Amino acid sequence: MSFSEVFDPQTISDLVARSACMSTADVRAAVERKARTLDDAAALLSPAADSLLEELANLSHRSTVERFGKTMALYAPLYLSNECVCTCTYCGFSMGLPIKRRTLRIDEVVREARTLAARGIRNILLVSAEHPKHVNAPYVALCVRESKRIAPYVALEIAAADEETYREYVDAGCDGVVLYQETYDRAAYAGYHVGGPKKKYAWRLDAPERAARAGVQHLGIGALLGLADWRFEALSLVQHARWLERHCWRSQINVSLPRINRAEGGFVPAHPVNDRDFVHFLVFLRLALPSAGITLSTRETATMRDNLAPLGVTMMSAGSSSAPGGYGEPGQAGEQFELEDHRTPADVACGLRAMGYEPVFKDWEVMQARSQRDVLGSAAAS
Ligand code: SF4
Repeated sequence: MSFSEVFDPQTISDLVARSACMSTADVRAAVERKARTLDDAAALLSPAADSLLEELANLSHRSTVERFGKTMALYAPLYLSNECVCTCTYCGFSMGLPIKRRTLRIDEVVREARTLAARGIRNILLVSAEHPKHVNAPYVALCVRESKRIAPYVALEIAAADEETYREYVDAGCDGVVLYQETYDRAAYAGYHVGGPKKKYAWRLDAPERAARAGVQHLGIGALLGLADWRFEALSLVQHARWLERHCWRSQINVSLPRINRAEGGFVPAHPVNDRDFVHFLVFLRLALPSAGITLSTRETATMRDNLAPLGVTMMSAGSSSAPGGYGEPGQAGEQFELEDHRTPADVACGLRAMGYEPVFKDWEVMQARSQRDVLGSAAAS
């Protein structure tokens, strides 16, 4: 049975409604519980929890340091193409928008990967819009294979695929698949995705499972904040992550909380998430998902990222561009959205060191260090 068959948005909506009446005593009881239920999770994101946010943030920090140490994995997206057959109303690549379109040739992908490597990045996320003609499976597999010669860790954030195609990507060297559901609200999803293959809600929702069955080791999921009620998205995301942790236990689960930024098309979010609620979202994710990685992108400002880094984040992008060819030839193609943190990877690393964190450019070293800590932790506990 897949997650789309068990996921019940009405149950989540009912829980969100119940959380409005929860008290600080409910929040404290949820904090005390070792294995937190979905009801506990609802207490942790309730309005009552907002009044305890500082306390919860401290707890989130301590829990992250205990489990992950003071390390921060750094990565950068490498955009392959902004040519898209989909109409997604919030996206700067949406079909028909008047931007400069481009799909990188393989030699251009290699050049971009080398540019990133020269900046210290060894963990690359290949990102692409959806265009079956320009960005098909053989092209993606080749991009992975060639990038892997330069960067030891390569993940994909592209169109949802079937299991066999994910297996081709794994054979080419793909280490991870990132696939945000954008919104878990099915009706809202239909309203935002008005044309193209991305319209298929359930096909997208079950893609991480297909990737896991194909042998993908790291799965990234998330919701695009601003499309629907943030508490609904947060609880749905946690339920999805927990389901994957149980059913795809060979894969490490990562969650992300991208907020909508300005983009071509001028989309205005119907459910904007303010900074305080954003912090609450992050802290909630850490307390509800103690063993999941949490990714924070350059959609947030440098100040915001520095403030959030100690509260639960384990992976950050750095020195990013959201346009194909954006590292070697900036301005030659339209970007997906505007970025807020324009620091170089070296500057981001420097800021992290100043806060007592060790920036790690090679993700596998983080994984190794963390599994060693897990082994030591279980040895100490037994
Ligand atoms: S969100 Fe993805 S599929 Fe939709 S328009 Fe943007 S790039 Fe295309």
